[in-house]
This record gives sequence, structure tokens and C-alpha cells, in this order.
Amino acid sequence: MQNPGLFKRALSALLTAVILLSCGLIPAYAQDTDIAVEPIEFNNPDFIRGMDVSSVISLENSGVVFRDESGKARDLFRILADHGVNYIRVRVWNDPYDSDGNGYGGGNNDVAKAAQIGKRAAKYGMKLLVDLHYSDFWADPSKQTSPKAWKDMALEGRIAALKEYTTDSLETIRSAGADIGMVQIGNEINNGVAGVTDFGEIPKVLSAASAAVRAFDPSILIAVHFTNPEQTATTKWRADWLDENKVDYDVFSVSYYPYWHGSLTNLSQVLGYVADKYGKYVMVAETSYANTLEDSDGHPNTVSHTANHTGDDLLWDFTPQGQADEVRAVMNAVNSVGEKGLGVFYWEGAWITVGDTTGLDGDVYMSRLNENRALWEKYGSGWASSFSDEYDPDDAGKWYGGSAVDNQAFFKPDGTAVSSLWVFDRVKEEAYLIGDTDLDGEVSILDATAVQRYLVDLVYLRPTAQKAADANRSGGIEILDATRIQRTIAGYHDE
Ligand code: CA
Repeated sequence: MQNPGLFKRALSALLTAVILLSCGLIPAYAQDTDIAVEPIEFNNPDFIRGMDVSSVISLENSGVVFRDESGKARDLFRILADHGVNYIRVRVWNDPYDSDGNGYGGGNNDVAKAAQIGKRAAKYGMKLLVDLHYSDFWADPSKQTSPKAWKDMALEGRIAALKEYTTDSLETIRSAGADIGMVQIGNEINNGVAGVTDFGEIPKVLSAASAAVRAFDPSILIAVHFTNPEQTATTKWRADWLDENKVDYDVFSVSYYPYWHGSLTNLSQVLGYVADKYGKYVMVAETSYANTLEDSDGHPNTVSHTANHTGDDLLWDFTPQGQADEVRAVMNAVNSVGEKGLGVFYWEGAWITVGDTTGLDGDVYMSRLNENRALWEKYGSGWASSFSDEYDPDDAGKWYGGSAVDNQAFFKPDGTAVSSLWVFDRVKEEAYLIGDTDLDGEVSILDATAVQRYLVDLVYLRPTAQKAADANRSGGIEILDATRIQRTIAGYHDE
């Protein structure tokens, strides 16, 4: 042993580990191995393996605690990063509150919430896609309701307000510490944006939004977002229409929910058309898949035993493996476009129940459901609250309630990660140096320290780091790996 000090430290760490292990204080590392994911050779080295978790803060306020597979409570953003998620998407509504300050629900996601979410994502190295709805609540093909504050504005005034709002929002989000990589100008803008539904005027609104983002930071990617890629001709027409109207953008994105949006072959073909003809990046901005058909919060799910559970394009089981398979397949379809295939975002992969109703019935079920309803109303942790009635009386105001996607999340009702979450890591095989535990490209004393810290549960290594940490190739991580790393640095060539 070249360095007795190091040896003593290693021995001390070993003893600590043995003591802690014998007391049962180190949670066994519980990386599930029941998920099989064939890696994809990505044409774009920065392929986005993203997730929208816009509801997270309202869920935490409602008492939800997220846990890794071993049951240890962790910041959701750390769990996601540890499992390979590399980008976070967040929706932003101008003013999702009534005049008394009651939130409309859906996370009550205003700029302040987006700033907090972006800051937390950046802490774990994840960029942020800011999804500006330009509405006070859900914007989709059937509704692009004007923000209250812009309601009476004519086009010119509305455009000026939108530009100012865009700039101010991005300033606020960035100054909180977020790493804004992309901005979505409008959400599901098939039939309008920002309260504007005239097809002669929509491009002017989009161009204004785009100009504001470019002026804020020209390195930020600008994305447009549509639904229904199964409408092949219409989707291609949208790209032609944007081009004819000289809308300046970088990323053409669509939603792809396999129970609604056609085949993966069609998806690749449509996106390939836009990438090839206009040189744009293409992306799936939203996808999801159920890992069970059971509900766990008392609010009906989009995919259930009675809805959206059959169809030619539902190629996967409603299990964690099936969920992982869907994510991989959608990534593969986008990647098949070529290097313009930018990535995939999973939609609301953490929108779990605020109170588990699984297996309950009768009065006990009703009591739990009423508790959930109170939380949805108070914290906005359901898809809509009763307070949304003033803004969206025909839909949210009628059908408000909880999560319709709790069975499409990557977390069990108690907040524990589901094994399918590993798809985000395993789909991309990363090269590493043996011993380079911190993955900084060289083997140094820091790597030996990282192994020691891992063994006493001070750090959590993601899978590639774990493979690297196994310096003696024993198939597991133990203090001998730290020793091996130290010996390597000291110039020994152990066989
Ligand atoms: Ca539900």
C-alpha cells in the first residue's frame, strides 16, 4: 500500500460500512432488474429523454412524498436524473386563479411555479422546456381561451402584451436558476393560440412570440406544438403553412398518445417530412402509457378498463415493462427520422394520487375520496378545481377532479418509483472508464472517495456510474473497488 493515510481512510470507511450494514441502516440498493430495454443508437447525441412533471409542487403541497426503489424519500428531480431523465417540461398559465386567489387546478402552474420547477431541475443537470400556453388554463385543440387580462384587446395590443409577457416570464424563470433550453410558443395550437383563432392572424401571434424568445436569448430553441399526427395530410399542411407564413421556429413537435394518434410508422413519416423538407428539428412533446388499468385516486383515468384500452396501435402490455417498451418505441420512431430527431417528453410521469383509494369501498372509499377532493381544491393537485368554473364553465367547471393519469406515472400510489422509470437511462448506453465513478472522464482520488461515500449512502450513483465504480469487476460495489482505484492511481497494474 503506497499511502498509509489512504489505507486508513479506506479501512475506516469499510468498518463504517460493515457497522451500518449490520445495523441495517444502509438501504439495499434496489435497482430493479425486471425491466428489459434494448439500447438505441441515437443519431442526435443530445437526444432528449424528457419528462413533464408540472403538477409536482401541488402534489408535494398535498402531502405526496416521492421515493426511490429502496423506499428512500428523495427530491423527485433527483430520482428522475438518477434514472436518466435529462430534460424537464413545464406548462405555464398566465393567471390560473380566480379573483379571490383560488387556483383553477392542474398544478396552478403560473410563472412562479415554473421558476421553482426549473430551478430544481437545474440542480440535477436537467434543462427546462417552458411550455407557454398563453391562456389562464388548459389550451388544447378545442379551446384556446384568451388570458383574462387580454380579453378585450385587439390583435395589435394582444401581440404587444404577449411579447412583454413572454420576455418577463423567461426573465423570472431564468433568474430563479433554471437552465432554459427550449420554449414552446403555445400548446396544442391546431386551431388557435392566445385567444386568436383566425388562421390569418395566428401566424402573426406566433411570430411575435418567436421574436420575443429570440430577443431574450437566441440560443434557446423555439418549438411549435400540435396534436393529431395521425391526420397525416393536415399535419404536413401545418408545416407548409408555418413556412408560407414565415414563422420563425426550430422544433416541430406533436403529441403522440398511441390510443389516439395512429401508428409509429405514420409518426416517423410525418415527422420525417417536416425534418427533410424544412430542416426543422422534430420531437414528440407529449406521450404516455399506462402501467396498470387500475385507478388510485377516485378520479376516472384516460386509460382504464373501459376507455382507451384497446386498439391496433396499443402494442404493449399495461405493465411496467409495457410502459417502458412504449417509451422506447416512441423514442425509436423519433430517432429513425435521423439527426433532426430531437427527442421525446413523457407527459406528467409523476401525477400520482394524493390519497390511495386502491382496494377501498363503501364509506371508507367515500371518505378517502372526499379527503382527496379537499386537497385537489386547496392545492390544485387535480386536473381542475371547482374554481375553474368562471373561466371554463363547459368543461373544467363541470368535470373538475383529480388525476386522470395516475396509472401512467412512473411512481406507485405511495410515491415509490416503478422499475419502468429505468427506460430513460437504459435506452442510452453510455461509455465509461472503469473506476471513473464520477464520470468526469478520468480516474482520480475523487472516484475512490465517491465509492466510499456511496457505500455509506452519502451519494446515489446512477447506473452508468455504478458500472464504472465496480473497478475490480466483481459484479458489485464494495470497498475493494475504492482500494483498486487508489492502487490504479498509484501506478499498480492489478490483474
Ligand atoms: Ca385517477
